[in-house]
Order: sequence, then structure tokens, then C-alpha cells
Amino acid sequence: MASLAGKIVTITGAASGIGLATARLLAERGAKLSLADVNGERLDEALKSLAGEGHIATVVDVRKPEQVNAWIEKSVQTFGHINGAANVAGIEHEGGRHFADARDEDWELVMGVNCSGVFYSMRAQLRAMMKAGGSIVNVSSVAGFLGLADFTCYNASKWAVIGLTRTAAREYGRYNIRSNAVAPGVIATPLVKAMETGHRNGKVTTSMQALDRQADPVEVANVIAFLLSDEASFVTGATYKVDGGWTA
Ligand code: NAD
Repeated sequence: MASLAGKIVTITGAASGIGLATARLLAERGAKLSLADVNGERLDEALKSLAGEGHIATVVDVRKPEQVNAWIEKSVQTFGHINGAANVAGIEHEGGRHFADARDEDWELVMGVNCSGVFYSMRAQLRAMMKAGGSIVNVSSVAGFLGLADFTCYNASKWAVIGLTRTAAREYGRYNIRSNAVAPGVIATPLVKAMETGHRNGKVTTSMQALDRQADPVEVANVIAFLLSDEASFVTGATYKVDGGWTA
């Protein structure tokens, strides 16, 4: 089990699903956390649910660079430095539309959160980690490897996350900063639940995965924790598929 003792980790999307599972796991393993999410009420609940003391939480819309910069500056001021980051915040918003029917607002919103949000977060985190090094883990998706029908905007945003991850790995290895991603398959979170009660109108199928089930969010958090830990000290520029064999 990878220890996170001594790590100061920022997490976006920490109020729900994979981000919340990651926060709980990292706190249990000894990390100090700076949580961020756009949903203030859920974020407060998330903060209260963590093991250990001294964690902080900030309401941040990752689409707003000034909010992201202020949050990372506050994290550094509070803890002295940061040496880990999990950029998990993300949305699916296009409701099953085909490419030609994708709306401008879906593109703006999905690219804003999933792509620009990761870009703004990484930029601020890289600046903060340049003196002492660190590890950044971004959450992409199987949609960052495949074409995914009816998810045009989401698909583009998740390929972009892998590009951002790999470029940072190439540029910042010399500063001892590692940059990796995870690519989940179908994970049982409120995001998937919203699809099931919305445009999917029923359970999201998992028959394309070798492991034919929806995963628990902690199964993704476990891999994020490994990549943030010193056990992954020679891993950078990688994308770990946590997809139950979907892309196998
Ligand atoms: P979720 O909806 O449970 O959690 C997402 C969190 O992001 C929420 O707390 C939400 O408030 C926050 N968020 C949304 N917009 C934000 C913004 N503008 N600024 C800050 N925070 C914002 O979803 P999840 O399933 O846990 O998804 C987490 C990540 O995993 C996303 O990037 C998603 O694309 C990715 N992912 C999920 C699955 C899956 O099957 N659940 C599969 C592949 C990838």
C-alpha cells in the first residue's frame, strides 16, 4: 500500500465520485489535502468526512483561471508548498447528441471544465512545484483513447487531457515533477447515475469491459494514490487505464 505521508496534495472535483474517494483515501494514508470543487455544500461535507487534521477546502470553478491561481497560492501559503495534485473535476453534459447536433454551449461547458480546467490547474501547480518537485495526476477516460459515439465534446476534452499530461511530463522531468493520467471505464458515481436517470434511461452498460461491472470510485482512487506516491518515482508521461479491460 502506497504511503502518502508527507504529501501535500491539491484535489479538484473533491466533493463527489472519484475526487471524493481519492480525498478520503489520501487522507487515510497520511496526506494533507487542499480540496477544491464548485459545489460548496458538498465540499464542506467532504472536508468533514476526511481522516486526520489540517485539511482545507476552497470553492473553485476550474473554468476560471483567477480562481484556480488563488486556490493554489492559498494552498502554498497554508502548507508551505504542494507536492501532489489530482485534477479530477469533470462533467458530461451533451446528453447523448450526435456530432452534428452538438450545441455550442455543450462544447463551451465541457471543454471549459474538462480541458481548460485541467490546463489552468496544471499551470498553477507546475509553477508551485518547480522548486521541490512533485506529482500531478489528471483524470482522462477511455474516451481519451477511443472514439465514443454521442460524446463528441467529452471525447475531445479527454484526448486533450492526455496531451496536456504528456507535454508536462516532457518539459518538467528536469524539475523532478511527474505528470501522469488515469483513464477510467464505467465507474459508479453521480456522473454515471445522472446519465442513467437522464439520456441513457437505464443502466449504463459495461459489456464492452472484460470486467463486466461498474467499478467503485475507490478502484480509481487506488491508482491515483499510487501515481502520487514515491512508489511511482520513475513513472511519468503515462496514462494508466482503469477501464476493466474496455480497451484491451
Ligand atoms: P462526479 O459528478 O461524481 O464528480 C465530479 C465533481 O466535479 C463534482 O463534485 C462537481 O461538482 C465537480 N465539478 C464540476 N464542474 C466543476 C467546475 N467547473 N469546477 C470545479 N469542480 C467542478 O463525477 P465522477 O464520475 O467522479 O468524475 C470525475 C472525473 O472522472 C471526471 O473528470 C470524469 O470525466 C472522469 N471519468 C468518470 C468516469 C465514470 O464512469 N464515472 C469515467 C471516465 C472518466
